[in-house]
Parts: sequence; structure tokens; C-alpha cells
Amino acid sequence: MFAAPFDYARPKTLDEALSLLSKHGDEARLLAGGHSLIPAMKLRLAQPRLVVDIGRLDGLRQIEARDGRLAIGAMVTHAEIAASRTLADLCPLLVEVASAIGDLQVRNKGTIGGSLVHADPAGDWPAAILALDAEIEIAGPQGRRTVTAGAFFTGILETAVKPGEILCEIRVTAAAASAYVKTEQKASGFALCGVAAVVDATARRVRVGITGVAPVPYRAAAVERALEGQALAEGSLAAAAGQAAAGVTPLADIHASADYRAHLARVNTARALQRAASR
Ligand SMILES: Cc1cc2nc3c(=O)[nH]c(=O)nc-3n(C[C@H](O)[C@H](O)[C@H](O)COP(=O)(O)OP(=O)(O)OC[C@H]3O[C@@H](n4cnc5c(N)ncnc54)[C@H](O)[C@@H]3O)c2cc1C
Repeated sequence: MFAAPFDYARPKTLDEALSLLSKHGDEARLLAGGHSLIPAMKLRLAQPRLVVDIGRLDGLRQIEARDGRLAIGAMVTHAEIAASRTLADLCPLLVEVASAIGDLQVRNKGTIGGSLVHADPAGDWPAAILALDAEIEIAGPQGRRTVTAGAFFTGILETAVKPGEILCEIRVTAAAASAYVKTEQKASGFALCGVAAVVDATARRVRVGITGVAPVPYRAAAVERALEGQALAEGSLAAAAGQAAAGVTPLADIHASADYRAHLARVNTARALQRAASR
């Protein structure tokens, strides 16, 4: 399988990349790790006339603690996150999720920014980004803007990143008590159901992000409400997890039925909450 012919540009600055996107409009596509875009081009599901490689741009590869938060550049690979000592100390959920993605080759090339913008309903990152209540910084022709994780995923393969914009950075607050529990599609590693839980035992509050189950990843609001202000005991966590698929219409495909996905959402939520609470 070969992609349709295309031109290739490798800008050196963010402004140069943004101006290429403005000039070429719908005909241009950004290239990050290429692990979603290149297969789509080979299948001719995507046929950009211009591929804009953002692999050499400055300022998209940082992992740093800044102003009490952790900032991760869009071009940071899954493998770099999995290996980060800073993240292991301050936000181990990101390390756990990165380590669960695909195989070594996918983790070495795929980026957190590309994965979030591609917004595969079975991608792993959305669960963590939602549970961590991340902020996502996007650059466009009018400057920079910040979107919360809750407003980022807008549909199947759709996000708040508009044509002509570039996702630059993801910012999260440190969170020690967290866990990610995934049931994966065996061939690819994509999530049939992935649940990320963050527990704040002092404030008696939890946040739960779920991917793979519904067309759009979601916060398990009913679970979070049921546990608000409660002592996070094993029994109450398990009871609340029973509402992990409340209000969603689960996906059904050759890999799993809707009922099975809803069941996985409940089971994995109970496990993720219990594991997070024990940390
Ligand atoms: C065999 C295989 C197994 C996989 N298994 C898993 C898995 O288990 N879990 C999982 O979550 N994922 C999995 N993936 C997907 C992988 O994580 C990819 O890294 C991810 O989907 C896309 O990231 P990328 O950097 O490769 O983006 P690309 O493919 O380069 O780009 C994807 C899309 O995002 C756009 N884009 C990229 N960067 C930006 C940016 N900064 N701003 C705006 N737009 C941007 C591109 O234009 C393109 O439309 C798998 C992929 C493969 C091929």
C-alpha cells in the first residue's frame, strides 16, 4: 500500500508551521509520530497534498515542573513519558498509561500530542488526561488558547483543535494516588476499556476517566458524585463503580459487545479506584 503523492515540509519554528497550515488549509496535515497518519495515508483515508513535519520544532519536547504544575510538550513520545523520572515521582499515572500503549515501536514513535489530536475512541491517553483534569494549550493564527480536558474531546476522532491549529502542551497537577486499568485488544493494545482513577483521600474526592467504552472518552460523573465526601472504603468504591457506564451508549464492534464494554467499565473502575486508594 502506498500513499497518494504528497509534498513534504519540515518547518523550524512554530510560526513557520502555523503559516504553512494557514496557506494550505485543508490540503495540509501535520505529521508527529506518524503512527496514525501514515497508515491512514496508505489506506487513502487521508490524502494530504502537503505533510508538515513538526518533529524539529523547538518547545514541543519538554517534560518539566513549572509553576506547581507539570508541562508535557506535544511531541514527547509515549516512551519518553514512560521513562521520565520527573513524572514517575510527581505524576505516576502518566508513566503507567504510557507503558501500557501498543508495543515498543509504537511507544518510541507515537507522541502524546498526536494521540490526543487523533482522538481514537480506544486510545489510552484520554482516560488519564480526563482523570487528571489536564489543561491543553493550543496555538493558532490568533495566538494561544487553553482548553480543559473536559472540553477537548468533541466527537469520534474530533477534538477542540481546529484546522490550522497546533496542540503545543499538556499541563497537569501532580497526583500521587492514581491507577490505570486497561483491558486491551490483544493485537494492537488499544483499549476495549481503559479506566484512569485519581484519588484525593484528604478531600474525599475521586476523578475517573474512561476510554474505549463510548464513542467519546468521558468522566464517570455518577461514580465521582457517589463518592464525593465519602470515606474511600473498599465497599463504597465497589458500589460507586457500578455506575461507571451510567448515561453512556457503549460501542459495539467485532472486538466486544456493548454489554461487555459496560461490564468492563464497571469492573475496571472498581479495580482502578481500589488500586489508586491503596497507593
Ligand atoms: C500497531 C499500533 C498499535 C497502537 N496501539 C496503541 C495503543 O495501545 N494505545 C494507544 O493509545 N494508541 C495506540 N496506537 C496509536 C499510537 O499511540 C499513535 O502514536 C497515536 O495514535 C498518534 O500519535 P502520532 O504521534 O503517531 O501522531 P500522527 O500519526 O503523526 O498524527 C495523528 C493526527 O494528529 C495530528 N497531529 C499530530 N500532532 C499534532 C499536534 N501537535 N497538533 C495538532 N495536530 C496534530 C496529525 O495531523 C494527524 O491528523 C497504536 C498505533 C499502532 C500503529
